[in-house]
Amino acid sequence: MQYRTFKKINEKTSLLGMGCMRLPVDSNDTVKEEETIRIIRDAIDGGVNYVDTAFMYHNGQSEKILGKALKDGYREKILLADKMPIWFAKDEDGMRTIFEKQMTRLDTDCIDMYLIHNVDRGVWKRVQKLNLIPYLEELKAAGRIRHIGFSFHDSYDFFLEVLDAYDWDFCQIQLNFMDKNHQAGVKGLKAAAERGLGVVIMEPLKGGRITDAVPPTVQKIWDEAPTRRTPAEWAFKWLANMPEVTVMLSGMNAEAQLQENMKTLSDEHVADLTQEEKDIIDRVSDEYNRLIKYSCTGCNYCMPCPQKLDIPRILRYFNDWNVYEQNPSTKLEYETWIPAGRHASDCIGCKACEEKCPQHLPISQAMKEAAEAMGV
Ligand code: SF4
Ligand code: SF4
Repeated sequence: MQYRTFKKINEKTSLLGMGCMRLPVDSNDTVKEEETIRIIRDAIDGGVNYVDTAFMYHNGQSEKILGKALKDGYREKILLADKMPIWFAKDEDGMRTIFEKQMTRLDTDCIDMYLIHNVDRGVWKRVQKLNLIPYLEELKAAGRIRHIGFSFHDSYDFFLEVLDAYDWDFCQIQLNFMDKNHQAGVKGLKAAAERGLGVVIMEPLKGGRITDAVPPTVQKIWDEAPTRRTPAEWAFKWLANMPEVTVMLSGMNAEAQLQENMKTLSDEHVADLTQEEKDIIDRVSDEYNRLIKYSCTGCNYCMPCPQKLDIPRILRYFNDWNVYEQNPSTKLEYETWIPAGRHASDCIGCKACEEKCPQHLPISQAMKEAAEAMGV
């Protein structure tokens, strides 16, 4: 396994991190406990020492089963990461209840890497309202968490605002070769590193979309590469090639996947992409972009929508749905991250957004199609 260091806090981490958001489940969406514990322990035995979960992953089953997996001496071998979903807390007491619940589920007395989950403009307002940061400092002083960070899903400009709003220990952003200019993007990665922060990467495989059901025109480009690699290998190598990347989380739900990823990220040449290889990845990225039906730039000019729809976000999920061949991860994320009453099906077709869209996108039509495709 290759290792890197969170410079500011001097913590050594494996380049591959175990994400516990997409664990193996049965047909009732119950996490398969035995299999999960085996995968997590195999990862740790194989050198993975960063393990990440969150309050709502698998409705709390993720934290609970991770707690069990970390018995028998495994807890001491890792950096344990968990997150505060502040939008679930009605008030400050609610926030404290969530944290205590996490500690009980994980059955630990300290979380090493504690993040404010899913920071965007709305969440950030709530962080201030409920005085979350002073509370995190209180937890840190009490030794119940060790490092304070945030995970982020909003624009690059807002990322800079959040980065400079507090003396963070680390941060977490979404990044893969398809999202290099999306949200914080590569520019955000570099900005965080310039401030001395280690950066945790989430969605290195875009929730599996880069690896599952590769469109034929994309596969054709991969096949032209001088070295044959799986899309997952290409995606990991693209990230490893940037020294600012500290650890990349992969939600591994099968032993074979874990073994493949560990092999890729144990290779001492993992960060040695040639210019020719980088060009291949750029061509793949361009081809995926060509397949996108509604070319929304995420500029937000169409907002606010009277129905409170997050139009660019819905368009992004719908584009993903089409480009990545109806990958179930897209639907899962759409259902998880878009609040009830704000789905595409809640569009009333007023077209107020369309007048403001510089790309002249037929947004109301796209909402209709998205509602049909995603079922809500
Ligand atoms: S057409 Fe739909 S998405 Fe656009 S502003 Fe009206 S309700 Fe919102
Ligand atoms: S205005 Fe158009 S391009 Fe900009 S975010 Fe809205 S839909 Fe996308």
